[in-house]
Amino acid sequence: GRVKAHVHAVDGVDLDILKGETLGLVGESGCGKSTLGRTLLRLYEPDSGDVTFGETRLNDLAGEDLRQFRRRMQIIFQDPYASLNPRMTVGDIIAEPLLVHKVCSKKERRERVKDLLSVVGLRSSHAQSYPHEFSGGQRQRIGIARAIALNPEFVVADEPVSALDVSIQGEIINLLMDLQDRLGLSYLFIAHDLKVVVQMSHDINVMYLGLIVEKLRGDCLDSAKHPYTQALISAIPVAEVKEKRKRIVLEGDVPSPVTPPTGCRFHPRCRYRKDRCAEESPELREIGEDHSVACHFAEEVSSLEVVS
Ligand code: SF4
Repeated sequence: GRVKAHVHAVDGVDLDILKGETLGLVGESGCGKSTLGRTLLRLYEPDSGDVTFGETRLNDLAGEDLRQFRRRMQIIFQDPYASLNPRMTVGDIIAEPLLVHKVCSKKERRERVKDLLSVVGLRSSHAQSYPHEFSGGQRQRIGIARAIALNPEFVVADEPVSALDVSIQGEIINLLMDLQDRLGLSYLFIAHDLKVVVQMSHDINVMYLGLIVEKLRGDCLDSAKHPYTQALISAIPVAEVKEKRKRIVLEGDVPSPVTPPTGCRFHPRCRYRKDRCAEESPELREIGEDHSVACHFAEEVSSLEVVS
């Protein structure tokens, strides 16, 4: 029962999510992305720091005020198999948030469920079925219908396509983008696969071992300067056969967050590391418009190589 060590799953992170836009959060599994997403929704309590939604400081809310505010913020979970109650019909699953928040009558709930099923590309007759009768992609559509049932303004999409086949991933991403256009949603889109994040993010934040190491616009990936971001980009397949990015293969595994490396946490795997990197932790600093990097030597890191 003794506390032997603490894990700082997320440390000193600062991010802004703009109304109607998507912030993509990318990083290897276990780097703290989901912890950060859930902390924004106050599903986890931060040890320090503020979460502000519009003018409201969420840290100040408790009890009924927090419960009411939660209508404006929802989450789509990674695993469409585990996140739906197998004993409930699809109609009851989607209607549950409406019931909990007592926002409409039984008849109105039935109508709303029908509308939501149609919005996410399912039939109204599906309301009578159980989750096990659906494919993974359909289940994720049910999870999305539940997440938008209360007309939220902000949705944390926590690895919503990671458990799906590649062909289905595209369909779900298109659905999320379509809903953003129609409903004006703001997303925090979490994924470990940069190619998925790029497809729908206006801004991208790259996370490594609990820290944000690079922030840049989604359409400026080629200007990435952090060696870790560059390695992630180099792994994205390109359709052009004549020119390909040179693949950067990272050595070693992600270090333990219980005992993170000293200095720059990425230094044991960085091909640009120098003595200073093991001693001094780099600050996240601005190196251009809408572009910040946590690297002492960002200006010396060469651009991504293209090979013919
Ligand atoms: Fe690599 Fe050093 Fe930059 Fe860290 S600070 S990313 S180790 S060059």
